[in-house]
Amino acid sequence: MTDGPSYGFDTLQIHAGARPDPATGARQTPIYQTTAYVFRDAEHAAALFNLQEVGYIYSRLTNPTVAVLQERIATLEGGAGAVCCSSGHAAQIMALFPLMQPGKNIVASTRLYGGTVTQFSQTIKRFGWSAKFVDFDDLDAVKAAIDDDTRAVFGEAIANPGGYIMDVRAVADVADAAGIPLIIDNTSATPYLHRPIEHGATLVVHSTTKFLTGNGTVTGGCVVDSGKFDWSANDKFPSLSQPEPAYHGLKFHETFGPLAFTFHGIAIGLRDLGMTMNPQAAHYTLMGIETLSLRMQRHVENAVEVATWLENDPRVDFVTYAGLESSPYFGRVAQVCPKGAGALFTFAVKGGYDACMKLVDSLEIFSHVANLGDTRSLIIHSASTTHRQLTPEQQEAAGAAPNVVRVSIGTEDAQDLIADLDRALSAATA
Ligand SMILES: *Cc1c(COP(=O)(O)O)cnc(C)c1O
Repeated sequence: MTDGPSYGFDTLQIHAGARPDPATGARQTPIYQTTAYVFRDAEHAAALFNLQEVGYIYSRLTNPTVAVLQERIATLEGGAGAVCCSSGHAAQIMALFPLMQPGKNIVASTRLYGGTVTQFSQTIKRFGWSAKFVDFDDLDAVKAAIDDDTRAVFGEAIANPGGYIMDVRAVADVADAAGIPLIIDNTSATPYLHRPIEHGATLVVHSTTKFLTGNGTVTGGCVVDSGKFDWSANDKFPSLSQPEPAYHGLKFHETFGPLAFTFHGIAIGLRDLGMTMNPQAAHYTLMGIETLSLRMQRHVENAVEVATWLENDPRVDFVTYAGLESSPYFGRVAQVCPKGAGALFTFAVKGGYDACMKLVDSLEIFSHVANLGDTRSLIIHSASTTHRQLTPEQQEAAGAAPNVVRVSIGTEDAQDLIADLDRALSAATA
């Protein structure tokens, strides 16, 4: 189809990027299970390698099934282009790679997925990169943390696990004034609930493992570029604005304009880092995305119902869901994610660490897993699992204190979820 801007989200989530297979007429996007593509002739091969013509060379770089997913996600996010990767964490490295050099840093929110905190506070140091963690509600602190070596600001729209809602527009303005891009991890919100580019973000990253695929089948990631950032406005991004030695001196921004970041991600990022999404994974994620809006509506409805019940239960100390009026972030929901505050939240169990451990063992419908964004309801005790590597201060800051469990509310019957929690809370606090 032609991706007219007039099409609604529900139409685009099914059709964007896809067309009947030109070879067979197959209506569903085929899984192009191939590593390589035959060149028409020697001239064609040379043109492809010179990026003069766009086409398929080798599936580490591009694959037709993955390309449909890239176009679909870029369209849903309102971006110029997208690059899919092997996981959400791969997408984060792929997003930073064109921007960073040894000695450069990023300014990141303290409220991030636990694995991202570890990636940013430890692993990226091996590349000579570093991260400064700042409370994004304190805009002066964000401003103060940005120095001459800062190359990006990184936050989560709806932050996992604490139900924090970021004022994306306000932080985007700070990044903009400093001449650097804002990167938003939009995994928990999905473009159905929040579209960061409309709020001033330059880049959007996803773990497609979660709500986009929606059924817990495959890991994947995606980097979406808005196409709006002027990489040549200052000298901070030589890999995009200057001759790139890794691609025989090509100037990506001058040559590809709004697609510079996307082309760089494929021609250098995927080529040399190899964090590629495979066509099977793209297929599962394409299947999931077709029902994204329908699932997200139900996820949100159920989350509101379960969170409201928990908040009124005497065995529970507090619930952090931003969709509840008691949340300090309730006021931001209307502005940042008016269709709902997602399906992730934490709650504190009276009885602390031990009661949380008993609770996760006593549930029947909820599965105890290190995952989120599944049709199934999921629970995890972050302090003993995903956030174990963090210091107690980091755990507290990330909303993963020892007396707290995180839930990802699925699309089952809300009454069954409530009954399950009721039984397990009794067992845990007996
Ligand atoms: C899961 C997750 C990631 C990491 O994604 P993987 O696909 O597991 O690598 C990053 N950010 C958020 C918010 C996540 O939920």
